[in-house]
Amino acid sequence: MKQIYHFNEGNTTMKDLLGGKGANLAEMTQLGLPVPAGFTITTTACMQFLQQDDYFEQSLKEEVLKAIYRLETETGKSFLADSSILLVSVRSGAKFSMPGMMDTILNLGLNDKKVRDFARLTTPSFAYDCYRRLMQMFGDVVYGISKEQFDQILQKFETTFDKAPSYFSLAEQQEVIKAYKQLFDKQHKNFPQDPLEQLFTAIKAVFQSWNNERAQVYRNLHDIPFDLGTAVNVQSMVFGNSGEKSATGVAFTRNPATGEKKLFGEFLPNAQGEDVVAGIRTPQTIDKLKQLLSVAYSDFIDYAKILEDHYKDMQDIEFTIENGKLYILQTRSGKRTAQAALNIALDLVDDGTITKKEALLRITPTMVEQLIHPIFDPAELKSAKVLAKGLPASPGAASGQIVFTAERAKELHEEGKKVILVRQETSPEDIEGMVVSEAIVTSRGGMTSHAAVVARGMGTCCVAGCEELIVNETTQTVTCKGQTLIEGSTISVDGTTGTIYQAELKTVRPTDNQNLQRLLNWADKEAKLMVRANAENIQDLSAAINFGASGIGLARTEHMFFGEKRILEMRRLILAEDETSFEVALQRLLDFQQDDFYHMLQTVGEKPMVIRLLDPPMHEFLPTDPQTIQQLAKQLEKAPEQITKQIAQLHETNPMLGHRGCRLGITEARIYQMQVKAIFTSAIKLTQAGYSVKPEIMIPLVAEEKELIEVKNSLLRTIKNLFEASNVEPFPFEIGTMIELPRACMTADRLAKHADFFSFGTNDLTQMTYGFSRDDIGKFLPIYKEKGILTQDPFQTLDQAGVGKLIQTAVKKARQTNPNMMIGVCGEVGGDPNSISFFQQACVDYVSCSAYRIPAARLACGQAALNDCRIAEIAL
Ligand code: PEP
Ligand code: MG
Repeated sequence: MKQIYHFNEGNTTMKDLLGGKGANLAEMTQLGLPVPAGFTITTTACMQFLQQDDYFEQSLKEEVLKAIYRLETETGKSFLADSSILLVSVRSGAKFSMPGMMDTILNLGLNDKKVRDFARLTTPSFAYDCYRRLMQMFGDVVYGISKEQFDQILQKFETTFDKAPSYFSLAEQQEVIKAYKQLFDKQHKNFPQDPLEQLFTAIKAVFQSWNNERAQVYRNLHDIPFDLGTAVNVQSMVFGNSGEKSATGVAFTRNPATGEKKLFGEFLPNAQGEDVVAGIRTPQTIDKLKQLLSVAYSDFIDYAKILEDHYKDMQDIEFTIENGKLYILQTRSGKRTAQAALNIALDLVDDGTITKKEALLRITPTMVEQLIHPIFDPAELKSAKVLAKGLPASPGAASGQIVFTAERAKELHEEGKKVILVRQETSPEDIEGMVVSEAIVTSRGGMTSHAAVVARGMGTCCVAGCEELIVNETTQTVTCKGQTLIEGSTISVDGTTGTIYQAELKTVRPTDNQNLQRLLNWADKEAKLMVRANAENIQDLSAAINFGASGIGLARTEHMFFGEKRILEMRRLILAEDETSFEVALQRLLDFQQDDFYHMLQTVGEKPMVIRLLDPPMHEFLPTDPQTIQQLAKQLEKAPEQITKQIAQLHETNPMLGHRGCRLGITEARIYQMQVKAIFTSAIKLTQAGYSVKPEIMIPLVAEEKELIEVKNSLLRTIKNLFEASNVEPFPFEIGTMIELPRACMTADRLAKHADFFSFGTNDLTQMTYGFSRDDIGKFLPIYKEKGILTQDPFQTLDQAGVGKLIQTAVKKARQTNPNMMIGVCGEVGGDPNSISFFQQACVDYVSCSAYRIPAARLACGQAALNDCRIAEIAL
């Protein structure tokens, strides 16, 4: 099987085989762009290599040799001979871009002899600069000799010679090379002089880097499969470090933070490849290139446009200018903030480049979650003390304690602390610390530095290149304007403006993103499922309506009993030993509830609102600590011992399987009747005031047809009496049930005879199906995940094989009895984008989730419908 493709043999559709970088290099070559010649070794070869010890020698080496010979012909240069020197880069390139996670070696082919010839052909400082870099990268990638050790040697010489390396004399350069060699010797390693040995070793090391720890962490983080492997790109070198007319840089065709249609990038004059992304020197903005190298700049503008038009998306382009001539080294779809992704997608729709449907599929539900990320409360910002300002590298707002290393970030995060990683610059080794940090701050590096790119990809707030901060990683301090902060100091970071504040600041959620509204309206048009909200307080109800909820899918009434005054009355009711105290408490609760429902129904208006009657076991409302029991005893004018005794009597061995849900409504009908009275009295009042309301009463934890009949009849009697007493024309209302027990699923056809609607309570249904306690799963879930027994938490993402089967069965059975019955899902998984396409296939009508999950759920519903159409089209 062919294992190597020259750039003029591939194209962009071959990402599986050639990796993203290889496929795009091939595509650009085919487009006639100035791409230095090279070839790509396939991902398949990588996987074979990783599985079979002698694979390289037996099956790949010959082909690499042939490819190098062909590259010599293509470039007219020689990799093996000493004249007309061909140097190559060896870079990784997986199907999905994993910035900085795997390895790269530049300037391969140089050795002690060739560097002298190369110095004659170019300049000594340039040639030795290349050689030094090769030794450093080779030592690091192949032998694991840390980059810092090489840097320390170089810094020592810089101090001794009192100048930057590019000004070292030939003799001084040779000193550096000698010291690097001693470092190899000290580690009992050999820097190979044979260019082919360098190349073979480098290819193997890059293959192996697929399995390095940071690449594994990144794959886990971004759900990238482990069996894809990386391709290896071998490309003839062009030199951005070959003098004043040379440069290297990275540019996006649009602003990756805002999406603005304006070239956005950075470059370093007289520098090589990794310098820009490594964040070691702070680069200059791309517009300065116009003054410095105008021809190359205008060529770049042309190529950037060709590439964006060709790929129909914002591109992230790496380039190098060698003696005034521009080369394109890479293009890929650029990583961007959620806001930029949204703005770009909408711009591309507006200028006719892509369709609305394509735009919908380009935004992920996670991006939508990020778009409604908190921002600092504008009121607090007015008086907040600004510590420093840097580059707004990745938007968001977060407060936390400073840490200076990725390890400390992990440790403190595990202790439940919120941390902000502050570094001079981050490197791929920091990935695990970055993942757990609320925000990332660097004192060096630009908008395309490692910290900036990775933070944007993760949606983590980041301020980069904040040069006012003097970060001392050894003493673990950061100094700014004469003030020193240590680990644990609290700061707040605004990644949208690049500002760092010296205090903890309150955050609020933005709600008026016009572009997001536009996109979500398109999603609603495609969607087969509606999205309702789980909410019961006025703030959440209003937020839900603002976020486009089509109604309320679950208002948990027990949440309304927890206020200080209400809990007392609830406790009075539960502990009442005579009719009078019971009735007093019930009346007071009625008053509270009536007031609550009035405002709730008023807020929701004509949209349907599912109100669930009291569900939890009674003990949840009772105190456990002696102090509160004492206090309660005083308030209720009872003896503390009596209360303790009553609490003991209410104790249940398995409360989640005990006296809760409709079982309470049956054993003490007056509680549900009181709730329904409160709902309908409020609804009648609102109707009289000219409002439209649509209450839907939901009975929890029904397992048996007769439970439903019993409770429903009792409620209907109360409602009938209220309408009769009010003289109001009865408005439409519904009485339905939660389906949250396996028995309810299996007898859904019978329950459907008595219910106007169903709503799946997947929290309890998962608990009862798996037999996992929803409150205790955290104790064993991590081990289950580690051992691969479960891949995800079934309370967060639907267990399709088990709980999903029950849901499908119940929907089918329900629709046999009542084809038009409204069916929803109101457990946690209702808001999980990954579960939504299953609910669509199961033919439920809506999902319901907390207010802030609504926008992402709306997008997921639109995408589920579009994906369904695509599958149907493929099937045709
Ligand atoms: C459920 O069980 O899924 C549900 C929505 O109800 P609760 O979480 O209140 O038990
Ligand atoms: Mg439940």
